[in-house]
Amino acid sequence: MSEQPSTPALPYHPEDMAAAIKLFRTKRIPTYEPGEDDHERYIATANLLYRFSLPPCVVQPKCACDVRDVVKIAKARNIPITIKNGGHSFAGGSTAQAGILMELGLMNQVSIATDEKTGEKTATIKGGALWFHVYKKLISERLDGLVVNGGRCPSVGVSGFILGGGLAPFTRSFGMGCDTVKEFSIVTAAGDEVTVTRNDSDPNKRALFWALRGAGGGNFGVVTEMKLELKKLQSNWVMAGKFTWYVKKENMDAFMITMKSFYSKNWPNAMTIDSTWLCETSKTDTEVGVRFIVYFNGRKKEYEEVIDGWELPKGDLETLTEAQRKNALTQHEYLKTQLKQRSLEEVSTRFLHETLAAQWIEETKKAFPTNKTYQLHTSFVFKNNAEIFGKITNILRKEMQNFREKFGSEKDTVFQATFIHSGGEANARSRKDSAFRWRGSTYNAYINLEFTDKWLEYDMRAVLDVVKPQLRLYGMVPGATYVNFPDDRLIQHEMAYWGNNIWELRRVKQIWDKDGYFSWAQGITVPKTKVDNGGQQEASEKLLEKEGQDFVKDEMDADEFIEPEVNSTDSIARQQWETYQLLAPAETYGSSILPALVASQ
Ligand SMILES: Cc1cc2nc3c(=O)[nH]c(=O)nc-3n(C[C@H](O)[C@H](O)[C@H](O)COP(=O)(O)OP(=O)(O)OC[C@H]3O[C@@H](n4cnc5c(N)ncnc54)[C@H](O)[C@@H]3O)c2cc1C
Repeated sequence: MSEQPSTPALPYHPEDMAAAIKLFRTKRIPTYEPGEDDHERYIATANLLYRFSLPPCVVQPKCACDVRDVVKIAKARNIPITIKNGGHSFAGGSTAQAGILMELGLMNQVSIATDEKTGEKTATIKGGALWFHVYKKLISERLDGLVVNGGRCPSVGVSGFILGGGLAPFTRSFGMGCDTVKEFSIVTAAGDEVTVTRNDSDPNKRALFWALRGAGGGNFGVVTEMKLELKKLQSNWVMAGKFTWYVKKENMDAFMITMKSFYSKNWPNAMTIDSTWLCETSKTDTEVGVRFIVYFNGRKKEYEEVIDGWELPKGDLETLTEAQRKNALTQHEYLKTQLKQRSLEEVSTRFLHETLAAQWIEETKKAFPTNKTYQLHTSFVFKNNAEIFGKITNILRKEMQNFREKFGSEKDTVFQATFIHSGGEANARSRKDSAFRWRGSTYNAYINLEFTDKWLEYDMRAVLDVVKPQLRLYGMVPGATYVNFPDDRLIQHEMAYWGNNIWELRRVKQIWDKDGYFSWAQGITVPKTKVDNGGQQEASEKLLEKEGQDFVKDEMDADEFIEPEVNSTDSIARQQWETYQLLAPAETYGSSILPALVASQ
């Protein structure tokens, strides 16, 4: 194992931090330090990999003016700011080891306005709102038939989701979450609040609007407000359901034929079916389970017609023996029946009120700080090609079998692969329409390994070392990764997240944050080349020429993205411990492992 890097020296003097804290308090901005209950509450995170993240200061701005003050005071002292909205970043994007954690929870207001001429409705959402706050507003106003293009889990932050692109339950009908944004307000590195729109006359503002649609959070400043279009469903009604298929071992071959067909079928845009492969070592009578989550923009009759119309490809059946063919058809029919029986027709406000939360309850709970587990993530972007999905599903089956054999006797270990159904209207725009690059995909998939024993980290990372290179090859562009499902071990994260949009993103970064004040391990870097600002496209092309890249074609060599995971074993905790031990009050002894015991002392 390679030697781990030591903690980087702080870029600021501790006395400057003390002075900043004093100023925040003078300005009545809620501010907390280690040892205070609110500090502990706002830094809490579910993923034990980040258990020693302990920033010396948490601020909770109440309004954009507080955000401006914090940015100005902190930047003048070279104190970094980490922004936290819903706190769901898989890559620790909202956990801070040093500097200031800006927790946006007090800025959660939502209002809905109607255009008098067109009747169209727009939601104005503050930068700290969670999707739950927005859905609550639609429900309380009984806006049946309208949806906001938001997250599956109500606890996900609106800013974090939209800034990364945003795959909504009805993305296949309405495009990415970021495609429905009309306006962003953002406090930039200069400490000014700027409002940007798609058709801004100022080209730099237009470019910033483009960048905020998919660049991911923490890159250009603090988003304080967004205006989002509400979208009209086909009627007031949707179909929504959930079914987990625990496959009997003797039916696995038939199941594999059904799954290959499931992923390669061209479902209509009204249909979204997410699927999660579960390898739970506690379940011994099954090889895998698959949880299907359905949302249909239409009525029950149309939904059932779509399901009934799904047939297994003749070519796949012809290669089977009579008995195999019979079982394949039986298992396929079983899934179709369950998808119909386990779905209900309901008005859209009821769907937002209870159904969406119930569909994603397992994932939502996992992200709560009370769920203390170690979690590793990686992700992929796939097209729905039958041959490729035959390979992907075979790899998953084989690796889940290996996982079960290896970790079957371990307590609480989970290997999960989730395929978020995307595409449809999201693919109607070009790859240059927004910073979100991976249009053309049909499934954004993420793998999650979960465990409770810290000494398993090496073995779990070793699993990823085997799985990642196999699956990456089949990405729509090998190595392509969705920034909202980040992999904190990527080597060339900029190419993986943004493909050749990175060149324009770097140019925008230079305009709005030339000192790279808002920076983090997986952020956009300030370009080394000086860029001409006259004309967005031309400038990008110039930069491309200089850096020798092609703007249109995303070419990556999958091998370039692979760094052995096992080399990172314990690296995060080891680094964070350096500052943790300096700042943590004595009474937090053992709290990451024994919170109840510590609380009772
Ligand atoms: C349970 C669960 C369900 C999910 N469901 C979906 C889904 O359906 N579709 C989908 O696309 N993704 C989904 N995701 C992924 C999710 O969209 C990303 O993790 C997203 O970044 C989370 O945003 P957040 O605000 O909750 O997290 P945070 O960790 O608070 O923020 C994420 C990043 O954005 C930055 N940031 C936050 N707020 C701001 C702001 N106001 N200004 C500037 N930067 C900011 C943070 O610094 C961080 O880098 C899900 C994740 C989980 C855990």
